[in-house]
Amino acid sequence: MSKVDKNIFFGAQKLDRASHLRERTAELAGMQEKHDCKYIPVYHGRHIYMNQHSSFYRRSKPFECESQCFLGLVGNQMWYSCPLDDEQAKKLEKEVGKQFSSLRRYALKLDDELAHIALYSRGLDLWQRNRRFCPKCGTKNRLSWAGHRLLCENNHEQFPHIEPAIIVLVTHGNKCLLGRKAEWPTYAYSTLAGFVEPGETIEEAVKREVEEESNIRTHNIQYFGSQPWPFPAALMLAFIAEAENEDIKVNDEMEDVQWFTRKQLKEMLKEGYVTISPRYTVAHNLIVGWLEEQDA
Ligand SMILES: [Zn+2]
Repeated sequence: MSKVDKNIFFGAQKLDRASHLRERTAELAGMQEKHDCKYIPVYHGRHIYMNQHSSFYRRSKPFECESQCFLGLVGNQMWYSCPLDDEQAKKLEKEVGKQFSSLRRYALKLDDELAHIALYSRGLDLWQRNRRFCPKCGTKNRLSWAGHRLLCENNHEQFPHIEPAIIVLVTHGNKCLLGRKAEWPTYAYSTLAGFVEPGETIEEAVKREVEEESNIRTHNIQYFGSQPWPFPAALMLAFIAEAENEDIKVNDEMEDVQWFTRKQLKEMLKEGYVTISPRYTVAHNLIVGWLEEQDA
């Protein structure tokens, strides 16, 4: 696969998370007074997209939110994510004349840096909102460490929760294996994927998921790259693997799984009989990277 195809969307460019500052509350507050700051309102992982600036809404004045979440530094500029409650979100939508919407709708309109920042603040916000109460004792959590730690009334700590998932392009000679789920848009096909289970290595997860969904056994599993995927909390771990057999049997999870040659897939994409995952997904990198290779 060429290097260009490995340029996975949503990766950090210049943002320095400066994580050592998160727990230094006084130092962080002092810096905040001296530096240029950008505050991004976020509501259930969503932002307000501003067409005319090809960016999400942000401003230099803080919001009155529960906690300003320090994302990091871009040069000398400090970036914060501000989780809004229902009332604050409605008020802001009225002021700006636009609604909070999903990053999926405008990710490709953002430059790489802004796309990364939006994805990061989305993941942080969804984790905070889904963990209002402590899973150990049930008391209310509060944000600390500038939004990166939750602490309950009995001081039980929690840190952002990430769910590892594998995604894999399986090949067999000049063919690749793609599938679709019934709930996906018509004609949409993608690489097989699934969550890593407790006690399982990621390579074992690749073998199990592919075999469960297609009956195809795999070997020569090669790591391709990773992509944070907070929809709501996944980290996609991408692989390329070779198939040991060709006889597909689809399980209940999938509506269809098929082998495609490069020629077939290129023609079907051109004619609109098949669509693949959007350009901002690692599945797109996997499929397009394979399509650009030459048949053996
Ligand atoms: Zn607790």
